[in-house]
Amino acid sequence: MVQRVTILGSTGSIGVQTLDVLALHPELYQPYALVAFTRWQALAEQCVRFNPRYAVLRDESAAEALRNHLSAIGSNVEVLGGDAALDQVAADDQTDVVVAAIVGAAGVLPTLAAVNAGKRILLANKEALVVTGQLFIDAVAKSGAQLIPLDSEHNAIFQCLPQHAGAQSLNSSAAGVRKILLTASGGPFRTLDADALRKVTPAQAVRHPNWDMGPKISVDSATLMNKGLELIEASWLFAMPSKQIEVVVHPQSVVHSMVEYEDGSVLAQMGTPDMRTPIACALSWPNRISSGAPKLDFTAMTDLQFELPDLQRFPCLRLAREALEAGGTATAVLNAANEIAVQAFLEERIGFMDIADCVAAALENIHAPDCKTVDEVLEVDAETRRFVAARVNKTD
Ligand code: NAD
Ligand code: MG
Repeated sequence: MVQRVTILGSTGSIGVQTLDVLALHPELYQPYALVAFTRWQALAEQCVRFNPRYAVLRDESAAEALRNHLSAIGSNVEVLGGDAALDQVAADDQTDVVVAAIVGAAGVLPTLAAVNAGKRILLANKEALVVTGQLFIDAVAKSGAQLIPLDSEHNAIFQCLPQHAGAQSLNSSAAGVRKILLTASGGPFRTLDADALRKVTPAQAVRHPNWDMGPKISVDSATLMNKGLELIEASWLFAMPSKQIEVVVHPQSVVHSMVEYEDGSVLAQMGTPDMRTPIACALSWPNRISSGAPKLDFTAMTDLQFELPDLQRFPCLRLAREALEAGGTATAVLNAANEIAVQAFLEERIGFMDIADCVAAALENIHAPDCKTVDEVLEVDAETRRFVAARVNKTD
């Protein structure tokens, strides 16, 4: 039967690549609802090409512009606008699969709407899990939603774990897992010294050597905060404590992550650095479908390097581990502070190394209690944003 797919963040890097994979398999998948923020022209093109049931824009005036445009060209795609519309299509009875690919904590509520409706969720929006942690995992358990990691590292780990043990259901000690080895490319500034790092520009930061991604995750890759968020993501997804997750820098991005077992076996998942592979894997799991990604050419692979990350030059990774180990809502504080600081860096209002300083200051100053509800967590998120915004404005 054809699976109906809702894509939260269809106009972004992950959204567009997901649509590319769906287009290869029209007999298996039908885009059902496409969701974006403000860019109605990009969404209009996707509507013409894929003819989904719904097109949704969070921004109401952009939704109005799209509605006018689509009716003028005779399209029958229904346009919805506003926050509630995102939750509505994520939880819609007709939706089978939800691809969570909004960037940042903005994806928390729609992703949780899909979780609470018991959908099959392909999780790219790592921030949603980092912010809500235990509440997210509890909601998955309660609704019976199926959570499949789309992030390349987590998808790799998912593939290397025992076949019966999916995400969030792994009993790691019973499965004989000793460690998860999370690989990191090291980003565009892997070899720069501390002085040079202070002077890098947003344009340099968003030029990643191996992956073509949205601006926020590209900056996160450059600071290694992306690996920090992924460390937290892995801890929740695979029920693994911080000390059993090690980060290994691997500049070629061929090995996407590894699982080490008690007997000394290490299983790795490899492939070209192309998100269409984990997208296709997550869509069709436990089956396999073509993705359009180029094949790995072993004869062209001359050297695979592995090294430890430098936490002096890349303090964001250290801060993320500390937040994970601190528990409570420290990881929500870390994420919110990082989102505001990265935006300020992209707008050239603060320097590259100020990102880590903002995050450290937020972790020191914001009270991060255990929260019982998502609303309480979002309060902590909002307080952190105000704190970092005030700090950034002072240094303007
Ligand atoms: P992107 O910036 O290219 O796209 C973001 C998408 O989210 C867009 O469709 C945008 O319209 C939508 N969006 C942004 N803010 C929104 C809001 N407030 N409300 C509703 N929609 C909003 O980002 P991306 O690179 O595709 O990354 C998306 C997510 O996937 C991130 O969480 C990122 O960490 C994760 N991820 C990305 C990659 C990658 O290769 N790009 C790899 C692994 C994980
Ligand atoms: Mg990743």
